Amino acid sequence: MNFTPICKTCKKPKANFVCGQCSEPVCKSCGQFMNDAFSFRKEVPKELAHPVYCGQCFDETVAAPLAEYEANLERARDMIVFTKAETKKTGHLKRKELPLTVTDCEDEIETVIRLAYFAVEAGHNCLLDVDVTHRKIIVGSHKKTIFSGTAIPTTIDPSAVREY
Ligand SMILES: [Zn+2]
Ligand SMILES: [Zn+2]
Repeated sequence: MNFTPICKTCKKPKANFVCGQCSEPVCKSCGQFMNDAFSFRKEVPKELAHPVYCGQCFDETVAAPLAEYEANLERARDMIVFTKAETKKTGHLKRKELPLTVTDCEDEIETVIRLAYFAVEAGHNCLLDVDVTHRKIIVGSHKKTIFSGTAIPTTIDPSAVREY
């Protein structure tokens, strides 16, 4: 008797993983492992939140949203960012949107990229009044610093930035 699951894709035994989408067994070499993909998104829908997919489910369910996510993350890294201290440069820009907030980030860079990613999802290319704060918390027996941030998203003409 052999209870080793057979991989859905390559039909070999030792399929020690299960596709989160179709619940069929998949082996280590055929599985698509997600490693925190989509972690910058505000909300990750259930069908994109599984840790492992078979090739077919990955192609059908994950590939297109993942490509879009990566393009958005690229745009977030290119975000035009002004800190709260730069209001002399940006005071004349309109602030129509509600402030974005992120909490529990590992460092200052992650905080700004998370704010920027939210701004990209809302169709903006600029963050105004970026304000990052940090505080120490106690996790178990050691202290840890966590970062939070706020910013107001807006859309500006990138070619006009130098004049500010
Ligand atoms: Zn396989
Ligand atoms: Zn599957």
